[in-house]
Amino acid sequence: MSLSKESEKEVKHLLRLVTRAFYAVPCALIMEVLLFHSVVYEEDMLKLTCMHRKVFRSYCNRLLEDRLIVAYTQKEDSPQYRMMTTTYFFVRWVEAIDAIKWKIHSLVKMVKDEVDQLSDPQGYVCPSCRTKYSLLDAASLLSEDKASFECSVCGDKLIEDDSGMEAQKGQEKLEKLMSQIEPIIESLKKIDNMKIEDNNFESSLVKAIPVSSSSVASYTVSSKVPRNGKPGGMSQSLQNAAQKSQATVHVSITADDEEMRQERESKEQKSETLKQNALPSWHMESTVGKSLLNGLGQEIPSVKKEATETGIEKPIKREESETDSGGRAGYSGSETAGSDATGPGTADTAEELDALEAYYAQLRANQDAEDEEDDEDLDDAMFEDDME
Ligand SMILES: [Zn+2]
Repeated sequence: MSLSKESEKEVKHLLRLVTRAFYAVPCALIMEVLLFHSVVYEEDMLKLTCMHRKVFRSYCNRLLEDRLIVAYTQKEDSPQYRMMTTTYFFVRWVEAIDAIKWKIHSLVKMVKDEVDQLSDPQGYVCPSCRTKYSLLDAASLLSEDKASFECSVCGDKLIEDDSGMEAQKGQEKLEKLMSQIEPIIESLKKIDNMKIEDNNFESSLVKAIPVSSSSVASYTVSSKVPRNGKPGGMSQSLQNAAQKSQATVHVSITADDEEMRQERESKEQKSETLKQNALPSWHMESTVGKSLLNGLGQEIPSVKKEATETGIEKPIKREESETDSGGRAGYSGSETAGSDATGPGTADTAEELDALEAYYAQLRANQDAEDEEDDEDLDDAMFEDDME
């Protein structure tokens, strides 16, 4: 894909703004995965987003319908199974940008129309069906008692049209909307000045970051069946409409948006690093655990030795040894001071119990780590079964 670094950044920024402003969180999550990985196989997407297929599809369909993402399906040979149909998702930049332009244009137009309608010249309005009448029309609607006007549609008594107030409210609504979508329009304007070349499945694959080594999808263009990822993109008329929307959309510039983006990007980087670090953590824990265990194992006899030395052979040197070797010597010393016969014995038992407890704790930790590993294997197995 021949998207320059700068324009790529801007387009991704735009897509994040839009999905977070107009879509449910899972949609934003799906977009996030695609922006990072470039091309993602459906099954891998389910794994990454932790969604059930049904849920994923309902959210994914919204993005597909709005053309923010595209699906690409092909038949692939897989090592374990017969031919399988694989569906990949990716973002077609040009199409997504046009779709956003269109969406924003429609939204602004809708609110503007509403405001325009409200600010019609004053006259009379029916409180029931909201039909409006000019002063001229109203004259022919005089009621029988000539005290009021009646609606020609529903017969209700007309009241004076005070939509001036509503027009004011509509104007405020429009202003609010414009300020909310300002970052999006700002981004669209920047992108308009950039050269965004069209991409397809093949060119997106070049930039793809592998999702997992255990993926059953090939992440290559299959030679089996001609691809059906629709090329070409948005129709010319839609593109024209989108361009026109630039003229109707009115913007003022702020600097907030740059800061927001930087903040978000630094957050993303952090979470990426976290993800990378998180993967082998069980492994780390278990090795640390083993070395700890080894350390304990070596310590136990030396402690015993010290206890017998300080306790039996050199009982007088107790005070000195306390300062020399700290707690352990002091502990054994106090035991010998209490009783000759049981002193060293209970000391050993206590130490041994402590060590045993530590050993079991360590064993549990290791067991947990191994269980985690087993779970992962199990998941993979289930996943593979699921594929068939
Ligand atoms: Zn009426």
